[in-house]
Amino acid sequence: MNVKLEDRLVGLDRCPQCGIANPEMELLWRSDCIMPRAETAYGHNWAVYKCTSCRLLVLAQSRLGNQGTKELEKVYPDVESVEEDIPERARNYLTQAVGSIHAPDGAAMLAGSAVDAMLKAKGLTEGTVYNRIDQAVQQHILTQEMGAWAHDVRLGSNRPRHADQDDPHVTPQEARQAIEFAKTLGTVLFVLPNRIANRGNGNS
Ligand SMILES: [Zn+2]
Repeated sequence: MNVKLEDRLVGLDRCPQCGIANPEMELLWRSDCIMPRAETAYGHNWAVYKCTSCRLLVLAQSRLGNQGTKELEKVYPDVESVEEDIPERARNYLTQAVGSIHAPDGAAMLAGSAVDAMLKAKGLTEGTVYNRIDQAVQQHILTQEMGAWAHDVRLGSNRPRHADQDDPHVTPQEARQAIEFAKTLGTVLFVLPNRIANRGNGNS
């Protein structure tokens, strides 16, 4: 990521607040180099930007501000990422869900697709997503509680998908919870087992 703290924060993939791709970030405030207390010889430039899409603010920290660079080191809040160990198709859906949190119906449907793709990646390919969740519980891939949560995510993604007569939309909070569940499921099913498997391979 080669992003510079200029009058615009150009080059940021996504807005950390709303997830929109290639956000337009307007400079609101910029500091001179601020030195931290004693621990390090390097200070940082700081700047606050506003996303023109969601109008929420992010705080940007440069690398080694006292050496004249304006290259971005970190943004607060952090840009949300999806773990590499999650299988390709599920990760693709989940990445799109994270990037469309400003459109909750779409984000919830994508999170539901990510969950289904994860179950398929575990060999559960028969029947409907409803069946796959129940099979995952029967085979102890999911706990009862995770299965119940997976059904909640499924029901949430079905409402906009089928233009439910009474309750056609999901709230931003419900979309966020669906994404959190999909990420948790990805950690339990793929990320954690990979880390455990690699533990003896010199990474510890
Ligand atoms: Zn934004």
